[in-house]
Amino acid sequence: MVSAAARPAGGQPYGKVYLVGAGPGDPGLFTLRGKGLLDCADVVIHDALVSAPILAMINPQAQVIDVGKRRGRHALVQEDTNQLIIDQAKAHAVVVRLKGGDPFVFGRGGEEMAALVAVGIAVEVVPGITAGVAVPAYAGIPITHRSQSSSVTFVTGHESAGKYRPRVNWRALAQGSETIVVYMGIHNLGTIAAELLAAELSPETPVALIRWGTYPQQETLIGTLATIVAQVAEKGFEAPAIAVIGHVVSWHEIFRHSQPTSTIWPA
Ligand code: SAH
Repeated sequence: MVSAAARPAGGQPYGKVYLVGAGPGDPGLFTLRGKGLLDCADVVIHDALVSAPILAMINPQAQVIDVGKRRGRHALVQEDTNQLIIDQAKAHAVVVRLKGGDPFVFGRGGEEMAALVAVGIAVEVVPGITAGVAVPAYAGIPITHRSQSSSVTFVTGHESAGKYRPRVNWRALAQGSETIVVYMGIHNLGTIAAELLAAELSPETPVALIRWGTYPQQETLIGTLATIVAQVAEKGFEAPAIAVIGHVVSWHEIFRHSQPTSTIWPA
């Protein structure tokens, strides 16, 4: 819980912004700290990938603003979102900026925090469980394994437009990381697979795609670097999905039978 001490003292011009990670979807994976903040928030500004049971935890007095964006349908540009958060912090004591997964993992939390710090607004970050960790786990894939993978890389498959050159060096990753976890990778999977194959990763390297991980409708597609692109096309497999590339994917066959199921996701 956040005590009244978190509210601005008399005369202080600004409230405080909490950048809160909502985790991957299953409400059982949301932090107690995050839930405590939803209990006392004056305003909650959230993204598209925050699950309904977590939104249902917001106290009924709070104002709820959806700035959700899904690929190709940008609801608000980032600068407008930053300004919205600043404006809300000038008007309210407890502003929660609620984001899917962890705010600092491909969540633009760093940009929002910088914008707030630049104008002198107090900010605190509340981590969440990032999809790249929770989603493979729910599919029975350990992202590291003592005998198979001593390194894991989290990488975005969708770099921001307008970069002067692609920054992800897929070839270096193929050589340097035993497990590769790709966020936002579905649309560029063809390019990613081609780059990894060109870097001499075996075409037999196992690949898992997990869609709506930790949700009741979670779906997993298993293939190899050589087959996965055709499988995605055939199944019409869509975002949001995490891709896991590496030998650890093989554990899915054994561990999927022990896949966690949410005990508190409403039916
Ligand atoms: N900050 C978030 C990531 C935001 S980028 C985090 O830490 O998890 C959005 C991408 O995250 C999606 O395109 C998808 O690749 C991944 N993602 C988020 N939630 C997911 C889920 N429940 N299942 C599968 N992928 C998910």
